[in-house]
Amino acid sequence: MYTKLIASLLLLGLTASQPRMTVAPAAVDDKRLAAADTDSNNWLSYGRTQDEQRFSPLDAVNTANVGKLGLAWYADLETARGQEATSIVVDGTLYVSTAWSMVKAYNAKTGAALWSYDPEVQRETLVKACCDAANRGVAVWHGKIYIGTLDGRLVALDAANGKPLWTTQTFDPKSKHTITGAPRIVKGQVIIGNGGAEYFTRGFISAYNAETGKLTWRFYTVPGNPAKPFEQPALARAAKTWGGKWWTYGGGGTVWDAISYDPKLNLVFFGTGNASPWNGSIRASVEGDTLYTSSIVAVNADTGKYVWHFQETPKDRWDFDSNQQIILANLNLAGKDRRVIMHAPKNGFFYILDAASGKFLSGKAYTAINWATGLDPVTGKPDIVPAAFYDKTGKPFVSMPGAVGAHNWQPMSYSPKTGLVYIPVNEAGFPYAAAGKDWKPLHDGFNTGLDNAAVSMPADETIRAGALAATTGVLLAWNPVEQKAAWKVPYIGPWNGGLLSTAGNLVFQGTAGSAFKAYTADTGKELWSYPVQTGVIAAPMTYRVDGEQYVAVLAGWGGVWDVATGILAAKSGVTRNISRLLVFKLGGTVTLPPAPPMIKLPLDPPPVTGTLAQISEGKKLFAPNCANCHGDAAISGGLMPDLRHSGTLNSAKMFKNIVIGGILKSQGMVSFAKDYTPAQVESMRHFLISRANEDRKLENISAALANKGSQ
Ligand code: CA
Repeated sequence: MYTKLIASLLLLGLTASQPRMTVAPAAVDDKRLAAADTDSNNWLSYGRTQDEQRFSPLDAVNTANVGKLGLAWYADLETARGQEATSIVVDGTLYVSTAWSMVKAYNAKTGAALWSYDPEVQRETLVKACCDAANRGVAVWHGKIYIGTLDGRLVALDAANGKPLWTTQTFDPKSKHTITGAPRIVKGQVIIGNGGAEYFTRGFISAYNAETGKLTWRFYTVPGNPAKPFEQPALARAAKTWGGKWWTYGGGGTVWDAISYDPKLNLVFFGTGNASPWNGSIRASVEGDTLYTSSIVAVNADTGKYVWHFQETPKDRWDFDSNQQIILANLNLAGKDRRVIMHAPKNGFFYILDAASGKFLSGKAYTAINWATGLDPVTGKPDIVPAAFYDKTGKPFVSMPGAVGAHNWQPMSYSPKTGLVYIPVNEAGFPYAAAGKDWKPLHDGFNTGLDNAAVSMPADETIRAGALAATTGVLLAWNPVEQKAAWKVPYIGPWNGGLLSTAGNLVFQGTAGSAFKAYTADTGKELWSYPVQTGVIAAPMTYRVDGEQYVAVLAGWGGVWDVATGILAAKSGVTRNISRLLVFKLGGTVTLPPAPPMIKLPLDPPPVTGTLAQISEGKKLFAPNCANCHGDAAISGGLMPDLRHSGTLNSAKMFKNIVIGGILKSQGMVSFAKDYTPAQVESMRHFLISRANEDRKLENISAALANKGSQ
């Protein structure tokens, strides 16, 4: 009797009018996940539904009233790095991860903080993280919240208080893997992958029992050393597509983001990253397609056994990861209803595949492309232009799209109502130049086999202006059935936020230019824009509590575009990070505190004293590794120290103590004693002094021109 009473209270608690005190926290099970689409109040998993469409049936906020959207509440975050996560909302509680793999829970209606969890990731881990200390989300299941930490732990937290219930280390902590992606729940298992294909790793995806943390299956995406037995027959087949001693470089193919699930097909789908190292000629003089890198792979959800694969970029040497979000949908193609996968990977083609078999159904470039002339209409294989094989031609190749991808991790959204897919597109080329025969891998840091110094941004105003002009971004509404653009909104720069579409005929997106915007989903007309003081890269989500609809987004600029692209990082304007969770509702009246003023320090480096040989050596050493955090040509995007401004340029001793002595390792700057000699480090210091002086000269010219203009 008593049990029955509790049960009925629990049921009542699920309705909007009842106090949520009676609902067990994170009460999510298979049944609820499978019915997530009709559960309009909630956002139960990373992409809202297991098919990851990121479409909400909520329509209380719509084209007629979105102009009245105002801030309902906000929460300041204590981390100041790229915020990439999508919040999850279950029965009035919002769970979100932040940079450095922290997790927070809030009352979704009031914003009252409920608990906070910090896995205390060692900051030295940053040396293995290509793309900022980001985290893209949590998973929820049976009263638990799951987070994958940057250093590879999978942690189950008690949803009631944020206390860890179990922790599993998902890879050897000494390996160069990292986790930034969100776990997904499939049939009582937590599925998680990892990144690190730029650091000589072997990619894999794992499933753990969600109650105990015990491994249930693991799928390796690339074959290991053939002297040992292959884990699956599929890997024996894959080994035939590799040349040389690929396993000594790990192979790559990491599963760092996309994971989707179809319960009817009982398949888990995931995307794989680039082959390692990027420069294919280092791997082997003769090579095949390097399976299963840059692919979508489908495995059995219970066993992790290979079912099918579709490789989007064979012979990858452009970092064309296929890790971008995988959307499942029912489409009517040529009069036939089909269950399909829709995918817009880095390489710039939009693919539609049959979800059951992986068969290529159609594909078209969704942005400007120069590395391939098109796709084979039957196989979907790209026709790659010979010049793109920069390692074979010996000549640099500026590819569109580049390594950042025409589309990166920022999630796209599919509205079954408009039939359109909304894609945050980057229009950004990248110059690939192969390193010479003397190339040696580094012990710590980035290992791509490229000669980045040869193509680093010169201190030339015309070239810089040209590169800046050619680097833009687009919000693209794509008709997948017709494989053509329905509408586009151009942005100043790339690296804008992920997408949300709703039944209110709205599309929401935050921008690199520090705005949060709403457009009509059918035509792309801007209806609302809110200044958020910092670039937004995360995707928005929406939920309902007590009958009222909310729209939430994490703000906080960062990620690989900020840390690695030098002068291009600031294309959209302000690159400061003010990390916050922002939650909007109709008639919301909360205001943000005024943003702190932007301070631009003038360059004031010591005079150039290094020899030309030292400066040139320093450039060669800095470009392939240090630049991945401190920016191309030592121009920082904003998150990482801009070394042209560093006081340590004045002190050879202090500079050496940092780079070799590792005295700043607690801030993520580890010792590179295994990779560089003291003399080489001194060359780097002279290169940085030279760079700072070059740019000071440019600043002086710009200032003189500006003064002239205003007179
Ligand atoms: Ca990659």
